[in-house]
Amino acid sequence: MSGPVIGIDLGTTNSVVAVAGEQGVEVLVDAEGHRLIPSVVSFHPSGEVVVGRAARDRRLLDAQNTVYSVKRLIGRPFDSEEVRRARSRFAFELVQSPAGGVLVQARNESYTLSEISAFVLREVRRVAEAATGEPCTAAVVTVPANFNELQRSATKAAGRVAGLDVLRILNEPTAAALAYGYGRGSRERVVVFDLGGGTFDVTILELAGEVFEVLATAGDTYLGGDDIDGLVAEQMAEAFLAHHRYDARNDRQAYERLRAAAEWAKCQLTPQEEVQLRIEELAYGPGGVSLDLTFGLTRSALEAMAMPLLSRAFDVCEEAMRVAGIRPTQIDNVILVGGSTRMPLVHRMVEDYFGRTPLAHIDPDVVVAQGAAIQGRALATSRAKSRLGKVALRRVSQPRVSIEEIGVVAPDPRADVGRASRPPSARPPAPPPLSPSATAPPPRPAPPPPPPPPLPPPVATLAKPGGAELGLPPPLPEAPPVEPIRPAPSFAIGSPDELPSFDPPGLGRASGLDAPSGFDAPSAFDPPSYDAPLIYDAPPEPVAPPLLLDVTPLSLGIETVAGFCEHVIKRNSAIPTEQMRLFSTGTDDQREVVVRICQGESRRLDENQLLGELHLSEIAPGPRGSVEIQVTFMLDADGTLAVRGVDGRTGAEQHVRIQLIGLQDDVAGLEEMQARLEAKMAR
Ligand code: ADP
Ligand code: MG
Repeated sequence: MSGPVIGIDLGTTNSVVAVAGEQGVEVLVDAEGHRLIPSVVSFHPSGEVVVGRAARDRRLLDAQNTVYSVKRLIGRPFDSEEVRRARSRFAFELVQSPAGGVLVQARNESYTLSEISAFVLREVRRVAEAATGEPCTAAVVTVPANFNELQRSATKAAGRVAGLDVLRILNEPTAAALAYGYGRGSRERVVVFDLGGGTFDVTILELAGEVFEVLATAGDTYLGGDDIDGLVAEQMAEAFLAHHRYDARNDRQAYERLRAAAEWAKCQLTPQEEVQLRIEELAYGPGGVSLDLTFGLTRSALEAMAMPLLSRAFDVCEEAMRVAGIRPTQIDNVILVGGSTRMPLVHRMVEDYFGRTPLAHIDPDVVVAQGAAIQGRALATSRAKSRLGKVALRRVSQPRVSIEEIGVVAPDPRADVGRASRPPSARPPAPPPLSPSATAPPPRPAPPPPPPPPLPPPVATLAKPGGAELGLPPPLPEAPPVEPIRPAPSFAIGSPDELPSFDPPGLGRASGLDAPSGFDAPSAFDPPSYDAPLIYDAPPEPVAPPLLLDVTPLSLGIETVAGFCEHVIKRNSAIPTEQMRLFSTGTDDQREVVVRICQGESRRLDENQLLGELHLSEIAPGPRGSVEIQVTFMLDADGTLAVRGVDGRTGAEQHVRIQLIGLQDDVAGLEEMQARLEAKMAR
């Protein structure tokens, strides 16, 4: 492995890449100094694929071929609620894959969601390689804490297609805590409150020196800034309907522009009290007359709209507090993550709930990538020595079949991998598993929290335009680099020359938004800056590698009888973990057992997320019930599942494998996908 291990926050809305070195953590920037890489992929008529900023601009021009928010859909079945919502909302086309997963259809080609994410990761890698001048082929990639097995595996698959060796999948809140606490040597209880574009999650961690222990995590996958944009866009559409008798909600391209305008207006209302905007030619009336929208919104109106939505976040906090067995006031520090936490209302609500001001010096946009980079460096430099490494070594020394090795992106999902064997086509019924012998991990006592240090209030100064260079934690008192969330030209008042450069045929008249005259869009749109270096800034002496004690967000279950399931690994169990179950045969000389596995909290199998099937095959013949196969379910430090089987009679290794659903949809093999990606990426 050459080059650094980069840390990647693969976001729903934006992605960020950072690298940790002796001098501290550097957030890498593109050639124009931007730190946020929009997680947007646009399929250009030329056949090229455009990723990042250029792709985001194309959302307004070519909504049908511009794909975003894939992270909301990755690893989900086509018939899920999430996909149904996306299909009604997104202008790009989603189709069902043969195995019940989701494919994106753009310009007559189909792409799996892993492939779409791979385009984003490839762009991230390109930015990292340009910034560091080194090949970047190894990475730590973060995912939401509540990602299930399918979502984690699909993310890893995306990394592979992008030519990245994903050394670790790290939970976003854990990464944020790492960025905040690594090298501080403190002992405290922190909450990571992450409100991004699409999702919300909250995680409670206990920090003790280099030990980062997750006490509880909870989330809502339907709560984020996008939902607030939706409410604003709805009002805009109503205003447009009232004025022009034209319902923009039935016009995908127009609605896309409304949503973009809504987001723009929402962000404006972070630093200012009121916003006015005008969208020209949102639609055309009789005789081709241009229909424009003029719309005004105050911050208080926005807050009244967003309040009911945001209060749901605190129901989730309640749930996390309950699991951790603590009260909000027992939290020492609150770390805000995600662009939506910039909203003044969110600050106020967080402050009210926890009874303390959130930490002011953490940049919610980059803190997750910074943590991933720290973990990347720890893995690269002291893997063998670290306690983390010892855990990993103990695990890999066991014979095992890991699902991530089983054709997640392989052309033939049923291809044999390792010791796994092909199941016979006629499948005998799976007998109910025998009762388990495993135990749950003991509860972890929480030490009393120390008194919190006095904290400065959040700083909300406006950034200097174009001031972003390298993302190293800067020396005080200089502010860290800032990111214009949306560059002004996307919403330019201006001439057609200022419009995004790719003009698809037939959309030449698609112009941006008009800001009202006298409105200084670029500077007003800059986010606040953060007032202090955050993370280990060349720690004075070598700090031990972090020890991450994370938990699994969802219970892992196996099918029993009559549509029920039994939970094998309980939600909030510390990972890595393993639990053993015994399986037996139901008929004489039965050679195979197939059991469905799922994730979720319900006792009913079909109310949980079905993951796939566990296949025990080549069972040595014997009378029914005499066969006893010990199957060990292992969740590794990535939260991904592997299984190991042992024949209880002989102690011999048993053929066992897991076949994940939905992930066998890939339209091509790994190498083909890599080749297609490399050929299509716009230079
Ligand atoms: P994700 O983790 O989903 O990729 P981000 O952390 O990048 O998301 O957050 C994106 C969300 O933050 C978007 O909904 C965006 O509108 C919102 N956002 C960014 N800046 C601001 C701001 N200044 N005020 C309000 N919302 C903001
Ligand atoms: Mg995020």
